[in-house]
Amino acid sequence: MELFRLRKTLDTLARKEGRGTELVSLYVPPGKQISDVMSTLRDEYGTASNIKSTTTRKNVMDAIVRVQQRLKLFKEAPENGLVIFCGAIPQNGAGSERIETYVILPPEPIRIYLYRCDARFHTEHLQELLREKETYGIVLVDSSAATIATLQGRRLEIVRELTSGVPGKTRAGGQSARRYERFREMRLQEYFTRVGGHANEIFLPIDTLKGIILAGPGPTKYDFEKGEYLNYMLKSKIIDVIDTAYVEEQGVKEVVDKAPEIMRKIRYIEERKIMQQFLYEVGHDTGMITYGEEEVRRSLEGGAVRMLLLSEGLDIRRVIVKCAVCGYQEQQSVKGPMVTGFEQSLQGKSCPKCRNPTLAVVDSEDLIEDFARLAEYTNTEVEIISGETEEGQMLKNSFGGVAAILRFKSQNQ
Ligand SMILES: [Zn+2]
Repeated sequence: MELFRLRKTLDTLARKEGRGTELVSLYVPPGKQISDVMSTLRDEYGTASNIKSTTTRKNVMDAIVRVQQRLKLFKEAPENGLVIFCGAIPQNGAGSERIETYVILPPEPIRIYLYRCDARFHTEHLQELLREKETYGIVLVDSSAATIATLQGRRLEIVRELTSGVPGKTRAGGQSARRYERFREMRLQEYFTRVGGHANEIFLPIDTLKGIILAGPGPTKYDFEKGEYLNYMLKSKIIDVIDTAYVEEQGVKEVVDKAPEIMRKIRYIEERKIMQQFLYEVGHDTGMITYGEEEVRRSLEGGAVRMLLLSEGLDIRRVIVKCAVCGYQEQQSVKGPMVTGFEQSLQGKSCPKCRNPTLAVVDSEDLIEDFARLAEYTNTEVEIISGETEEGQMLKNSFGGVAAILRFKSQNQ
């Protein structure tokens, strides 16, 4: 769950743009002295005072001060280090900039020390860290040779290369055809056993192993897959079997090129399974589901949701409306493109409490963020479902993009 939110936050941050070169990214690795970082920031503050553009100068200096304030809260760098993003972000066209600050405690130790002031936030180092958590095993096999490799994030390592020693299909003259065939079959089995042994030895100790991709030219890979050569735990992790033109390093590269496509395919399979669970409950009228924003929110607040299903690209903003005079506050959900219109509609509208025409939007966030936070309080699983499968389309079109599988039957169903 935390990883999910972090991914989401980083995606959002990566898309933010400053008006000029005025967004600060700071990476502090574990073990780094906070006092050293503070002194770097003081230098940067000094340098920033020379910036010609008044607005940019003010924004950069403001951002640095905020970063210093946040950093002061730490006596030393946390266990995994910390990352701060801070800068003036236009909220609604030019002139509407507001300073936003994000402090992120990475799930794993970061290895770089970096201060950067740019037109964007430098989120890529954290994003890479998240990707690195998953490892895929690659086994390429045909009747002449095999290659075993691991892919961790973007790091590809060819761990072992084997030659088969299996003679070709055509026998030398003078041998009995059947005897030759039996001999060849035996050599092939020995070879498969050898490949399986190496793969087991390499893959079994990797606890971040997410899946195995089997590849190679021709049908040999299917024979290898059918037999009992791979440990059963690894066998169950085979996520795809694909054709490549080559079996050695070149073949591994072919697999890596196809990797994003393979990962997407896996994710779609997962999404379908999740949605089928939901649709089963719907079809059997078990009372164990609910859908629609309001209903799901109520169930979430009551701690009744086991799994929250949200359509990807659900463009709904949760806005906070506040009265500047009496402090009256309410929350509303507004479709993304309607937010500006909604803000305009507040002008002249009177506050339900004090009757003054002083209502305004003071804050807004993505509905997904809002729900994700609610889900976190109640230990609820969150799944973002793409529109790439038929089931995903159904979630979006028939259930409003917001649905839940419940822990127990809801009282008000
Ligand atoms: Zn009021």
